Amino acid sequence: MTERLYYHDSYLREFHARVLDRSDDGRALYLDRTAFYPTSGGQPNDIGSIEGVAVVDVVDEDERIAHRMAAPVDAAEVQCSVDWARRYDHMQQHSGQHLLSAVFIEQFGIETCSFHLGEETSTLDLEVPAIDMEKVTAAERRANEAVWENRPIIVTYEEAHSAGDLRKPTGRAGTLRIVSIDGLDRIACGGTHVRLTGEIGPVLIRRLEKVRTTTRVEFLCGGRAIRRARADYDLLTRTAQAFTTSIDEVPDVAGVQLAAIREADRLRRKLEAELARYQGRELYDSTPPDPNGFRRVIRRLPKGSLEDLRALAQSFTAQARAAFIGVIDQPASVLFAVSADASVEAGKTLQPLLVQAGGRGGGSARMAQGSVPTLEALDAVVRSLNR
Ligand SMILES: [Zn+2]
Repeated sequence: MTERLYYHDSYLREFHARVLDRSDDGRALYLDRTAFYPTSGGQPNDIGSIEGVAVVDVVDEDERIAHRMAAPVDAAEVQCSVDWARRYDHMQQHSGQHLLSAVFIEQFGIETCSFHLGEETSTLDLEVPAIDMEKVTAAERRANEAVWENRPIIVTYEEAHSAGDLRKPTGRAGTLRIVSIDGLDRIACGGTHVRLTGEIGPVLIRRLEKVRTTTRVEFLCGGRAIRRARADYDLLTRTAQAFTTSIDEVPDVAGVQLAAIREADRLRRKLEAELARYQGRELYDSTPPDPNGFRRVIRRLPKGSLEDLRALAQSFTAQARAAFIGVIDQPASVLFAVSADASVEAGKTLQPLLVQAGGRGGGSARMAQGSVPTLEALDAVVRSLNR
């Protein structure tokens, strides 16, 4: 059985232990006592070193705790060191979660049903399908006030049958480890916590996400909150520089510029259509009619989209007795348009040719388009249309 030193002193980072057992390959060690926290209760495992060899994972096996090592360790007595930066970060997030969960109950009677401490951010799931942003910011404000109040966070051991006033009922019997935030919260928990709420540091709520019937709240505490706020400020500063304005003006300036872009885009499309009308007329005038007075033209582009030829096709065939064949080599596609007085219908002419060439498409009496699998198939369709 491994004595769990972290239960009694979450600030212990250097300790000495005896090796009671090891796996056959020597890569898993079982100690008589450990300050390494194993993954459990939403809090990830510690890392660190044993006799200078890296501890890569710590696993709770009920009675014992397995320390998975980067390389075998064969000493009988070992000196151990917990990676303190990682552990303290976990303590800030976990204590911060207890505080936030307590505050959501205190302020709004909303229960927390689960907690996950992630690499970048942590989440807690509230037992409500939705929550107003005002309530969320009120909870954030109240949690930060409780941080400034610097309330003691203490661990006690109480018998399950007599341990009252817990935030969440526990199904466990026997002795419970109870983590309390003075005057705010009492809950059974095996995790590592800071001594005072002041050590949690700033509490920052970020994204909300609906997950089935619950609302997932992303939050950051302590060092993580500061790092994220710094990154946010840097991003905002770069965005402001791109708009040559101050960060407070970014939303307004971006809104004005977006409106200007939309207007410019609308104008560009209008001008393109106008230009195509002129080009279509000019192309019509410069295309000699055949003996029947019919004008037929082929426009071929190595690549692009049929959309690039549509306006020209429309304006060309807006004149009398005309047909327009638009061809794109890459991807192999074809457009066929005819004037209102043409003796053929575009869709009925093109569609069977596409099918014959292994392609697909169709359209109206005046304009049709489609694609074919190869350049050879494309040439065959164009030859048939141009006959
Ligand atoms: Zn906990």
